[in-house]
Amino acid sequence: MRIDAHVHAFPERLALRVREALSRNGPLPGSPLLEPVAARVRDDGFDAAWILPYAHKPGVAESVNEWSAEEVTAYPWLIAGATFHPDDAEFERLVERALVELGLRVVKLHCSVGGFAASDPRLEPLWDTAERLGVPIVTHAGHRSGGGTEPDELDQEVVPVLKAHPDLRFVLAHAGHPNTGHALGLMERFDNLRVDVTPVWTAPIAVTADALERFAGRVLFGSDAPNCPQPTPEQVARFSAMGVSPFALEQLLGGAAAALTS
Ligand SMILES: [Zn+2]
Repeated sequence: MRIDAHVHAFPERLALRVREALSRNGPLPGSPLLEPVAARVRDDGFDAAWILPYAHKPGVAESVNEWSAEEVTAYPWLIAGATFHPDDAEFERLVERALVELGLRVVKLHCSVGGFAASDPRLEPLWDTAERLGVPIVTHAGHRSGGGTEPDELDQEVVPVLKAHPDLRFVLAHAGHPNTGHALGLMERFDNLRVDVTPVWTAPIAVTADALERFAGRVLFGSDAPNCPQPTPEQVARFSAMGVSPFALEQLLGGAAAALTS
C-alpha cells in the first residue's frame, strides 16, 4: 500500500490564495483544487494520501476542519486532516470537534506559516487528545527562519512535547530541514518521533540510505503536492534508486504511514 503522507488541499478560495502566494517562488504544475489533487494522488501511483490543510492564522481552522470532514472524506482513498492555531478561540472545543466528533485522522500544524511554537502551552489539549486517540500530528516546526527548522527550535520546542507525550505519533515535517541531521539525532533518543522526507520546494531532504534503513517504519514519504515543483514520480524515483532494502522502501512509501493511520 503506497501512501503519500504530505499532500495539501484547502477549501477553494484558500487553495487559490495559497497557490497565488507560492507561485511567487516559481511556477507550480497542476491545479490546487481538491478534485484534481485527489485524482493526482492515484495518477502518481499512490493508493492513499494524507490531506493536510493548515491554518496560517487564528479563526480559519474551524471552517477548514468542517470542510475537510465534508469534502475530503468524499474520496475514499484520502485521509482527511485537521488543523489548528494556538490563538484559536475555544481551542479545546475545536480539538474535540475535529478529532472526536468529526473523526479526522491526521493533524497538520504549521508553526512556520502560523508563527507559533510547538511548545505553546495552549496546544496541550491537542497533544493530549491526539495521543489518546492515536492520531498522528504532522508538525512543521520552527517559526523564525522563513520555513526552516533550527536546532534550538527542535531542542526547546519539539523535545518538550516528545517528553511529555511518550505515545504521541509526532511526525516532524521535512525532517527538520535544513537541520535533518539534528532531527535524526533526536530520533535516536525519542521513539515517538517520526519524520517525513517531503522536499522543501526544490530542495531534497538530506537523508541517507543508512538513515532510511535504520529508522525504517518511522520515515514517511511526502510529496508536498500540489505545491511542489518537482513531480511526485521523480521524488519516488530518487528514493527507489538509493539502494535501500525492499522493506525500508516499502515502509517509506506507505508502510510507516499506514501503521499510523490504520
Ligand atoms: Zn507541505
